[in-house]
Amino acid sequence: MLFFTLEKKRLNEFLNAVNRRYRLITPEQKGSTTYTFRPYSEFSNVALEFLRTIIPPRQFFFPPVERLFSVDKECRITVSPEDEPFSIIFGLHPCDLHGIEILDRAFSYGGRDSFYWRRREKAGFIGLSCMPDKYCLCKSMHTDFIESVYDIFLYTLDDVYMVSVRTALGDDMVRLCPELFKEPSKKEILEYKERIKIRDSMFTRIMDTTNLADLLTLEYKNDLWEQYSKRCLFCGSCVMVCPTCQCFDIYDSPDLLTGTSIRLRRWDSCMRKDYALVTGGHNFRGGRPERFRFRYLHKEIGFADMHGRATCTGCGRCSETCPAGIDMVEVVRSIRE
Ligand code: SF4
Ligand code: SF4
Repeated sequence: MLFFTLEKKRLNEFLNAVNRRYRLITPEQKGSTTYTFRPYSEFSNVALEFLRTIIPPRQFFFPPVERLFSVDKECRITVSPEDEPFSIIFGLHPCDLHGIEILDRAFSYGGRDSFYWRRREKAGFIGLSCMPDKYCLCKSMHTDFIESVYDIFLYTLDDVYMVSVRTALGDDMVRLCPELFKEPSKKEILEYKERIKIRDSMFTRIMDTTNLADLLTLEYKNDLWEQYSKRCLFCGSCVMVCPTCQCFDIYDSPDLLTGTSIRLRRWDSCMRKDYALVTGGHNFRGGRPERFRFRYLHKEIGFADMHGRATCTGCGRCSETCPAGIDMVEVVRSIRE
């Protein structure tokens, strides 16, 4: 890993250079308080102070709806081509980079998902530091820093970015305009350390995750699941915005005129009533409390059993988005009490 500094006022030169070499995706403001990733157009459109996009970065490797293959009348299968150019996604915060790392494991478990990986392998990441708001839970989930996944990470200081270059791709990007990158001075290193302490002190939302897997298992039959499920609208928004939700449905879309059928997959949600409905009519989680509880168990326990970590990155999207005001910290606290 190498460290450099980059003057803030010259970030536009760097992004323009990256955009000339790769397809660059950057965060942009969408509504008064909402943000989204878009192909880079010009530097003035890039959001640098945002905290979270509505739709998480998983959209790039695991799109909401994806055409897998088609089958014609003669039963010939044509796998949908993937011809997206190599992309650099700029502005990812540590929680979302952890989210990508979790998806990498999920889509490799029991065999690589070729449709996920053919996109994932054509992407690089420029991370960007952030200051927490009232929804950020990453410190509790131990995802407030990232040491993997990214190629370059920019820590915002007063006049410069402290630039961490982790991979050969990151090095290639620096070499696009090496004159912009300088060795950090002692003063800048001190400022970096101070900024880390300030950020650490700004977390106001803390969730006690001690023995959380044990606790959720022991309280499997707690009445609180039913109480919360009465409040929940089962709209599925918390799942759609989550950077680590990975469930999908597969379906065929036949065209009777041409005799061709297209196989698609689309994001699914464990909050939906028919999510666990199987042939014969049995529904493994038809009840509201069961569905509400399942999401918590899956986020905190299911993946932890397989991979040794929870799948919640503490990004805060679900709490900010929930129209019923259901907050993961509150749910866990009430289960704990
Ligand atoms: S966003 Fe809120 S109301 Fe909608 S399904 Fe999730 S917890 Fe329930
Ligand atoms: S469960 Fe909520 S806070 Fe955790 S990663 Fe998903 S959207 Fe973010």
